[in-house]
Amino acid sequence: MESALTARDRVGVQDFVLLENFTSEAAFIENLRKRFKENLIYTYIGSVLVSVNPYKELEIYTKQNMERYRGVSFYEVSPHLYAIADNSYRSLRTERRDQCILISGESGAGKTEATKRILQYYAVTCPASQQVETVKDRLLQSNPVLEAFGNAKTLRNDNSSRFGKYMDVQFDYRGAPVGGHILNYLLEKSRVVHQNHGERNFHIFYQLLEGGEEDLLRRLGLEKNPQQYHYLVKGHCARVSSINDKNEWKIMRRALSVIGFNDSEVEDLLSIVASVLHLGNVQFAADEQGNAQVTTENQIKYLARLLAVDGSVLRDALIHKKIIAKGEELVSPLNLEQAAYARDALAKAVYGRTFSWLVSKVNKSLAYKASEPAVCEFHAFMIIFLIFPCSFEQFCINYCNEKLQQLFIELTLKSEQEEYESEGIAWEPVQYFNNKIICDLVEEKFKGIISILDEECLRPGDATDTTFLEKLEETVKNHPHFLTHKLADQKTRKSLGREEFRLSHYAGDVTYSVAGFLDKNNDLLFRNLKETMCNSENPIINQCFDRTELTDKKRPETAATQFKNSLSKLMEILMSKEPSYIRCMKPNDAKQADRFDEVLIRHQVKYLGLMENLRVRRAGFAYRRKYEMFLQRYKSLCPETWPTWDGRPHDGVAVLVKHLGYKPEEYKMGRSLQIAALLAIPATKMQATWRG
Ligand code: ADP
Repeated sequence: MESALTARDRVGVQDFVLLENFTSEAAFIENLRKRFKENLIYTYIGSVLVSVNPYKELEIYTKQNMERYRGVSFYEVSPHLYAIADNSYRSLRTERRDQCILISGESGAGKTEATKRILQYYAVTCPASQQVETVKDRLLQSNPVLEAFGNAKTLRNDNSSRFGKYMDVQFDYRGAPVGGHILNYLLEKSRVVHQNHGERNFHIFYQLLEGGEEDLLRRLGLEKNPQQYHYLVKGHCARVSSINDKNEWKIMRRALSVIGFNDSEVEDLLSIVASVLHLGNVQFAADEQGNAQVTTENQIKYLARLLAVDGSVLRDALIHKKIIAKGEELVSPLNLEQAAYARDALAKAVYGRTFSWLVSKVNKSLAYKASEPAVCEFHAFMIIFLIFPCSFEQFCINYCNEKLQQLFIELTLKSEQEEYESEGIAWEPVQYFNNKIICDLVEEKFKGIISILDEECLRPGDATDTTFLEKLEETVKNHPHFLTHKLADQKTRKSLGREEFRLSHYAGDVTYSVAGFLDKNNDLLFRNLKETMCNSENPIINQCFDRTELTDKKRPETAATQFKNSLSKLMEILMSKEPSYIRCMKPNDAKQADRFDEVLIRHQVKYLGLMENLRVRRAGFAYRRKYEMFLQRYKSLCPETWPTWDGRPHDGVAVLVKHLGYKPEEYKMGRSLQIAALLAIPATKMQATWRG
């Protein structure tokens, strides 16, 4: 039989807190590498689960495995998503404390996959009833629908979520899932009209063309070939061998039915999808005065039908701009560039709002209908963008990550400290980097980046992305986490363009290009296009464009402010819950199995803050168990406690650890009799006993 020590050499430690050289990043990565090689993709840092995407199917998500983790303590079984899921669920049931599972990592790291696996775990292991079955189905089926509309192929990930998503599952008093809710934020709408090389538009467009029945495509006026559509060819990869659009279409269509879409609703929804493709093909030519004229009548005809609007009104709205000044309507013609802008803005607005509508429709189908209050389980996940240079959307999402990191720091340290206090155990507070300074830089009133951006957006006249950058330079020039070309010293200057600024996030430096910041923050749709949409007889469009927008005098909130406010609400919700963390990593950029790119991993270890996390964990006591449980587990290691210990469990543990030769500074015994013994057990012994 393989001895415990050689096994450990081969597979590493299953909890990083057991690493002898726990401050060494190299040792950390070596441990990950060893485990990855053995297909052990999960490792703990205390109760935080670190996961490395295997890019291949592993036999670890079987029903049998689910049973293995059900109701079993964290320390007894090897690290797994199921342990996190089960643990949260049990705390929820026994302590009635709301839980949240925060899953983070960059695009392609395995967040979506992890969420799905957790939902499946609950679907299989939680108590069942007819209502529960329906909710489970709908929860699982909401995924393919939202993915079709909200995910796309990027350079880094074939199925990358292009929106932030929180999902919560509600459980009733028996612990059965009875309802759910999904919150979406900030869909990357610009993708509808433009994709970078090697990337695609949202999946749904390709799925529809590839999978849609002939009859349907005819009704929608579409051709099968994606090359026909301007909005689908910008990235030069409409078809990719790794994605089976036809198959995905079938899955998506089935899912729509499970969620409760009837045939006419499906038709309305797909009409909108098709209308976006037709919009992309609307072309203009300039007349003698340089004013734009629509040259593609056929497209207008289809658009009128699909969006259920008056064709000539739409045509007019695409080439004119209407403003209301002093109560009077002023209509002016658009030039070619403006008309193209208006067309793209309409496509983005129609798609973006339809996506939000879709989420609310899914939510209605998931809504908890019983009269008793439900306890809540909360999942959240996020995307980190590392595209260079980053755009407005990525700025918002990195700001979200910054806030979630702040929450992580606060909650981990706080709960750790509270536990020691209640156990009467002395400990040294740990020093850590508090990223509040960066959050403030982004969100502070008047002086923060969002405030300055809003101010520029509101300023009438000549505000541009460049004037925004200048204002930023003026206002935050001495901030240690902010840099621009002008503010940089000679050496760093070379790495920064004149249209860029750099933020030193907790996870590392990120450079943002200001191009498009004002436009995206304003998220402007010309008034006459809005009016046209308000008159639409397509029931979905009709719900997406509300007449009050036209009469409301108040300026709508900017995109960044909306985002900031929804984030602050979310933080409030998360603060009230007990969090668990899953930190996902991708092992290589080629999406290949068995390839462990150390540089890439090191980068992720850094920005996920894993070394710091480990430091905090190690500053405390890594291993805690109830006295009774501990005794039960290890009594065989000491003749005095074996086979039974008749005294108080506390005393038995004292005898046992003494026998094992632990020094007093290596462990502490907590005050509480039935709650916890706090023990720091040296890695080698721990590993040996664990495997014993
Ligand atoms: P993210 O949501 O973080 O962008 P995904 O969850 O979509 O990333 O993962 C990207 C791809 O990696 C998946 O489509 C899947 O092929 C693969 N993958 C991720 N996690 C796992 C896993 N645990 N086992 C097998 N394959 C995985």
